[in-house]
Amino acid sequence: MGGSLDRRSRPRPSPECPVLLARRLSPLVLAWVALALAPACSMGPAVVVSTPHGLVRAPTETSAQALAEMVSELYPEVGARLPGAEDSRPDVWLQEQLDLPWYTFAGDGLTGAHLDFVGRVYLEQAPRREMATTLAHEYVHARMDEVFARLPHALQEGLCDHIAEELVPEFAAEHRARRLLQALNGLGRFEVEVHYSIPDVQGRHGARLSFEAQGIDPGRVFEHGTVAFWFLDLEEKSGLYGLGLVAVDRLVRDGGYAGLHAFLEATADGELAERLAARAGVEPAGVTGDGVTGAGVEGTEPLAAWLEALFELFGEEELAALAVAEPALVAGLAAVIGRARFPDLDAETFLTEGRPRLSMPHHGRSVPIYADPVVCEAVRAAWPVLDPAHALERGSRIEALDD
Ligand SMILES: [Zn+2]
Repeated sequence: MGGSLDRRSRPRPSPECPVLLARRLSPLVLAWVALALAPACSMGPAVVVSTPHGLVRAPTETSAQALAEMVSELYPEVGARLPGAEDSRPDVWLQEQLDLPWYTFAGDGLTGAHLDFVGRVYLEQAPRREMATTLAHEYVHARMDEVFARLPHALQEGLCDHIAEELVPEFAAEHRARRLLQALNGLGRFEVEVHYSIPDVQGRHGARLSFEAQGIDPGRVFEHGTVAFWFLDLEEKSGLYGLGLVAVDRLVRDGGYAGLHAFLEATADGELAERLAARAGVEPAGVTGDGVTGAGVEGTEPLAAWLEALFELFGEEELAALAVAEPALVAGLAAVIGRARFPDLDAETFLTEGRPRLSMPHHGRSVPIYADPVVCEAVRAAWPVLDPAHALERGSRIEALDD
């Protein structure tokens, strides 16, 4: 999600074709626009509805009306939450499949985009709560003032996500869980625990699965400007989206969005990265060197501060949402741990007598795996075909937890 260009070269939103707008843009942006011309000049989705907050286009009358209602709700709500919100009123185009005039930079998983230089938000058709979350996110990009636009790009993304989660609470836990997985993946770290009510092969009642890999330097969330950000590879961008949300949650904890806005106004460019990192209670870029090594390696304290911030957000609601959204993933983790710790049990006994619960480390909250029929079915399916030894070959390990 995302794709707003550097605000300093931003033209006013305009209904004219980008051929004309292009003249007022910087050479780099001009090159992008040149890539984009043909599709961007096309007529767009068939049905047009006018709203007080901009034009809506969608493939059908029904979808256009539904989108217009969503626009009427979310545009003012974003404005009410975002200090200094601009009244940019971008058009909103709903497409069955996202077809950006800027597709060169669209990666897998992109569900929407705000293209500043055509004054337009693009949305992909999705269930209502997901579309609403994406629209709210893109509206934050579209309405951000020059003060918030000084945030490094990953933090702009985090701010968009943070406000979108507030405005669409029914999708917030799942959205956050996915972002936190992206953040963990970015750090090259994954840890999950399964607790059970019968003793395992060592007489314990829980085990932790840890996976470590080369990650990115998380402090880079404080570094990249918008243009540089979009040139990063997809994996790094994905990690920075997740870490951006983690950092923004800390940045707005005292004083909310207005507090962050005031902080930015009072902070000079030269010291911005360092002061943002200090305010978030995590380390700025460079501290962890080129790439981050996992836990268990000496000298990784900076990573610990990030993990602490991350797990503060990974609560019971997020875990439960993850089990609903990704039953195969959750079941696979449970089955790997279950097979390793109960080599003589079958899946059914592990589920009914072991009553396994999934938890993220460090906060003690957990969700029952045995109570969700879809996850249970996935555990039964994974159990006989999973070879824990094979699963543990690539940098992961399972350790018994103290009771
Ligand atoms: Zn975005």
